[in-house]
Amino acid sequence: MSDPRRWIDLHMHSTASDGAHRPADLMRLCAARRLSAVALTDHDTTAGLAEATEAAQEAGIELVPGVELAATLGPRSVHLLCYLFDPADAAFQQTLDQIRTWRRERNEAILARLGQLGIRIELRADPRDPPPHSIGRPHMAHALVRAGRAASFADAFSRFLAHGAAAYVPRKTLTAEESIAAARAAGGVVSLAHPCQIRCDSPPELETLVGRLKDVGLSAIEVYHSDHGPEQTRRYVEMAKRLGLAMTGGSDYHGRPGLPPPEQSIGFSHVRVSADHLDVLRSLTNARAVG
Ligand code: AMP
Ligand code: MN
Ligand code: MN
Ligand code: MN
Repeated sequence: MSDPRRWIDLHMHSTASDGAHRPADLMRLCAARRLSAVALTDHDTTAGLAEATEAAQEAGIELVPGVELAATLGPRSVHLLCYLFDPADAAFQQTLDQIRTWRRERNEAILARLGQLGIRIELRADPRDPPPHSIGRPHMAHALVRAGRAASFADAFSRFLAHGAAAYVPRKTLTAEESIAAARAAGGVVSLAHPCQIRCDSPPELETLVGRLKDVGLSAIEVYHSDHGPEQTRRYVEMAKRLGLAMTGGSDYHGRPGLPPPEQSIGFSHVRVSADHLDVLRSLTNARAVG
């Protein structure tokens, strides 16, 4: 049943948000890695999907429509990976548009704070590049490094952009429940991204939170992720089984300068995701369409 050649990667970013590679280049790199299917999951935008779909078709791999949304869960922030929705769905696109408007308002506020600190940055490395459709703090972190105001990406966050730092401004987002409902109304399914990044006091507390997300329509947990060690992955697999949730996985590849060459880092060694998981996800969308 599980054919070792059918590896997939359901979490990747392109220049439409904070990735370094254009969508078409990303698809070619994924094909060179012999992945059978990949999801492009840019932050709050599907603007890369058209180019990715065409390139994926040429390269002979399957492109799964995706998008990554940050959302609130009570006092916490969680990231949600939406898959297999209809990218042409007008209501879902309107939701993404609203989220990007909140981003723009926040970006302007951050740039104003930096201005007060006497710092002006150019968000594009090359002014001839088209602006990314969805701009966020990672773009500012890279710009601060280029401007010589921070020693590294991480340093830019700790000095200026992280929660509590000099130019930090919060961003308005939807609740997890609203985000899941929006993706499902467009025919999609939702997976909880990198659960290791959720601030929780204990594994049982995390399981309670994930159970609450399941009650409002969550379909899966991202059990395989570049930040998860084997022990964490095992724990999330067990949790998914106990809660009756499907499993997804991906590299969360951004192709950032400074990381190993893309051909080595797409599909990190421990992020091996079988295409069987995608079949399960798809069956969950179908089940809903019929039922
Ligand atoms: P934004 O969506 O604009 O709020 O940016 C959030 C993204 O910035 C996250 O997905 C991370 O990739 C990155 N990020 C957030 N906090 C940090 C941090 N302290 N250090 C490095 N990267 C961070
Ligand atoms: Mn990102
Ligand atoms: Mn994320
Ligand atoms: Mn991501």
